[in-house]
Amino acid sequence: MSESRYRYELDELDTSIDALRAMLPPSELLYSMKANGHPAVVGRCVERGLAIEVSSHGELLQALRDGARGSSVVCTGPGKSDAYLRLACESSSVVSVESAQEVERLNRDLAGSPTSVLVRVNASRTSGRARLQMTGVASQFGVDEEDAQSVVAAVVDGPHTFAGVHLYMGSNLDDEDALVDQFEIGVEVATAFESYASSRYVVDLGGGFGHPFARHGDRPVWPGLRARLERLVEPHPGWDLAFESGRYIASACGTLTMTVRETKYSRGVRYAVASSGVNHLGGLSGLRRIPPVRPDVDGGNPTADDGLTRLVGPLCTPVDVLNPKLETAPRLGDTLTVPNVGAYGLNASLANFLGHDYPVEEVTRSGVTTSLTQLSLSRNEVSA
Ligand SMILES: *Cc1c(COP(=O)(O)O)cnc(C)c1O
Repeated sequence: MSESRYRYELDELDTSIDALRAMLPPSELLYSMKANGHPAVVGRCVERGLAIEVSSHGELLQALRDGARGSSVVCTGPGKSDAYLRLACESSSVVSVESAQEVERLNRDLAGSPTSVLVRVNASRTSGRARLQMTGVASQFGVDEEDAQSVVAAVVDGPHTFAGVHLYMGSNLDDEDALVDQFEIGVEVATAFESYASSRYVVDLGGGFGHPFARHGDRPVWPGLRARLERLVEPHPGWDLAFESGRYIASACGTLTMTVRETKYSRGVRYAVASSGVNHLGGLSGLRRIPPVRPDVDGGNPTADDGLTRLVGPLCTPVDVLNPKLETAPRLGDTLTVPNVGAYGLNASLANFLGHDYPVEEVTRSGVTTSLTQLSLSRNEVSA
C-alpha cells in the first residue's frame, strides 16, 4: 500500500454534478479543470454533458484529449500564450478574452481560424461578500466594465464572433445571498452588451459555489437559489446561460490518505511528520489561502499530552504545515484520511518542490478501481 494516495470516486462526482444542476436554472454547466485535471475526472464530466473551462495550453490539450469538443471548451486566463490562442482557434474552442491586447492578437494573428469569443468583464461593483475578490477592484482578470464597450466592439468588428460575456467574481461562496448578489451584478453587466450579439447571446455568470475543503462537511445546499436565479433571468429568455464550478463539482469525490512517518517533540511541541505535505495537498496554503487540514486519524490518541499536535509534511521548509493544532495525536504508522480534497488537492500543490514521489492516484467507480497511476516529473528536450 502506497504511503500517500488520492482516491477519486466517480459516483461522488456524479452526485455533486446532479446536486449542483438541480440548484441551477436550465443552463450549460462548465467544469473548471484547474480544480482537478485527472483525465478520469475530466472525462467523466464530458460524459455527463458538462463543458470544460480551461486556463492554459496544457489544460486545453488535455481537455480535447479527454473527449471534450472544442465548441464545449471555454479558454480563460490572463496572458494567454501564442500556442494556447492558436490551439483554441484551431479547435473552435470558445475564447474568453481578458484584455484589449488579446483581441488585437486574435484579430491580427488568427483571423484565418475564426471562433467564438466571450469578453470577460470585471464588473464595476462587487457584492463585498466574496472571499477571493476578483472583480470590482483592480484585477488582472477581464476587462474593466468601463472599458468593455470598446473591447466588445473590437471583437464585433473583427473576424471572430462575439458570443457573449463572461463573469467570474469570486470563489468559495457558501452563502446563498452572496451567490445571488454576484449573479445580480452579472445579469446587470450582461444586459448592457446584449445588443452586440448577432445571434445567440451567451451569458456565463461564473459561479464561486463553495464546498468544504480538507475537512468533513456536507455539500452545501442553497434551497432558494434556482427560483431566485430564474426570477433574475426571466426578462431575458433568449440568453444562453452558463455557470462554472471546479470546487463544488470535484471536492467531495476526492480523499487523500497519508501515513505518519515520524513523531517527535521540539521544545514542548508535539510533531507528527506525514508522508504528504504541501507537495501533495493545498500548496496554496503557503499563500495562506486554505484553512487547516482536518484528517480522520485511524489509531491515534485524543487524550495524549495537551491534545495538540503540529501536523507537518516531509518538506524542508517551515511552511509545510498541514495543521498547526491538530486535536488528535497521531502515532507512528497511523493512517490519516483527509476528506473533500477532490478539488484543489494535487492540482494545487507544490509537487515538484524537493522531489518527493507524487502520491498514487486511484480512480474508483461503484467501488471498483478503474485506474491506479502515479505522475512523475520528466524533462523533455526542446529546440532553442
Ligand atoms: C477558478 C475559476 C473557476 C472555478 O472556481 P471554483 O471555486 O473552483 O468553482 C471558474 N471560473 C474561473 C474563471 C476561474 O478562474
